[in-house]
Amino acid sequence: MSDDVDFDVIVIGAGVAGSVCAHQLAKAGHEVVLIERGSEPGSKNLSGGVFYCRVLDEVFPDFVSSAPVERRITRNVLSFLNGDSHVNIDYWDERLAEPANAVTVLRARLDPWLAEQCEQAGAMVMPGVRVDGLLRDGERVVGVRAGEDELRAHVVVAADGVNSFLARDAGVRPKEPQRHLAVGVKSVIALPRPVIEDRFRVTGDEGVAYAVVGDCTQGVAGGGFLYTNRESVSVGVVLRLDDLGARGLSSSDVHDHFLAHPAIAPLIRGGELLEYGCHLTIEDGPAMAARDLTRPGLVLIGDAAGLTLNTGLTIRGMDLAAGSALAAARTVAAALSTGDCSGEALGAYRTELERSFVGADLRTYGRAPKFLENPRMYGDYGRLLADVFHGIYTHDLRPRRHLVGAALGAVKASGVGLGQLARDGWAAARAL
Ligand SMILES: Cc1cc2nc3c(=O)[nH]c(=O)nc-3n(C[C@H](O)[C@H](O)[C@H](O)COP(=O)(O)OP(=O)(O)OC[C@H]3O[C@@H](n4cnc5c(N)ncnc54)[C@H](O)[C@@H]3O)c2cc1C
Repeated sequence: MSDDVDFDVIVIGAGVAGSVCAHQLAKAGHEVVLIERGSEPGSKNLSGGVFYCRVLDEVFPDFVSSAPVERRITRNVLSFLNGDSHVNIDYWDERLAEPANAVTVLRARLDPWLAEQCEQAGAMVMPGVRVDGLLRDGERVVGVRAGEDELRAHVVVAADGVNSFLARDAGVRPKEPQRHLAVGVKSVIALPRPVIEDRFRVTGDEGVAYAVVGDCTQGVAGGGFLYTNRESVSVGVVLRLDDLGARGLSSSDVHDHFLAHPAIAPLIRGGELLEYGCHLTIEDGPAMAARDLTRPGLVLIGDAAGLTLNTGLTIRGMDLAAGSALAAARTVAAALSTGDCSGEALGAYRTELERSFVGADLRTYGRAPKFLENPRMYGDYGRLLADVFHGIYTHDLRPRRHLVGAALGAVKASGVGLGQLARDGWAAARAL
């Protein structure tokens, strides 16, 4: 390794991935700089906000009690939404509260806290600096360029998010096909704490997460979400880019349609808009993460590496960002200790990742993106479910039928067909 370096490691991007990686390496005694283009960490970031936070127990022992988290999610609602009806599966479980399984977060509060932990561990945090390119010595990445400045390090960790131009610059990610990406549009709406507790039937610091499919996206592949924070709700839609374009709809109009829906509008009535934003997200994480995620002197983590999982039931990116950051930190620390930061040494990151829950979950849910391409998910099945319940609860003086008869009648009327239903059911069982 060259002695002509400013730091052992340069980490680019103070999101979840970059901060967790910088923290781990600084805590292990390495000289680390964490560079963030935003005027402060979190100022440029947007996430739906449910963080499956167990992974952070490895990093910050009292994460949930010391970090600025919003609510512990103990109620999960899966909602099939139609224009004039909805069917909800509503799952509440006290066991999800302790130890906290998932918490809601607002990145404008969480990311500065994470960066603060990095500083306390000994990392230098540099906000307001945009990295413009990689410095190379032949094949090897030896540092970064930011405006007129050049910084050199043994290893560069790219944690610069879904648009990672560093990944493209290094030739790891080509221009993604639109079906690999989705656009998220989100509002944060202030509501008084007692209103949230009454409306969403939660108490104390417990919260609810809605995953919505169907009319929320006006038929576009994707879904809606609504998560409770302490004194606000995060609500929005995630829309697959190719389908959105094919249907000629605008993402902000779809977002407004969702918020005005008769099933959603009463939940946010009287609220005050605090934030509104949109951000790209990854739709086919398993395909993107299958690529080689290292080059000599360079490692990709988090969204920069394509590590997001959308199963329709859950959107996960922050926990995978943290998991990949831990795997990268282990690899980089081992490389620094042997003085070998070659492509081969850093290639051990792939094995670390495969061994971790990140690799395991990407394998388990590898079929989910394909399954979510099924257009029947975004219309037919919501209506079919409502029709089954309509058959059960409507008493119009005609002779009643047993549940199976009512369900078969609804399937027949839907035009989906029993064979198709069985095939889709099997595909769902294998994908989810
Ligand atoms: C609408 C929406 C809803 C979502 N909902 C959820 C959810 O509920 N749960 C979940 O777990 N995940 C969710 N995700 C995904 C999640 O937000 C991401 O997977 C996660 O933020 C990835 O973290 P990261 O650290 O890799 O990247 P990011 O959080 O994007 O951080 C990248 C950082 O790099 C900085 N940066 C970029 N370029 C440069 C540069 N050139 N120089 C310096 N700094 C740079 C950025 O400013 C940013 O701070 C959602 C995403 C969207 C869009």
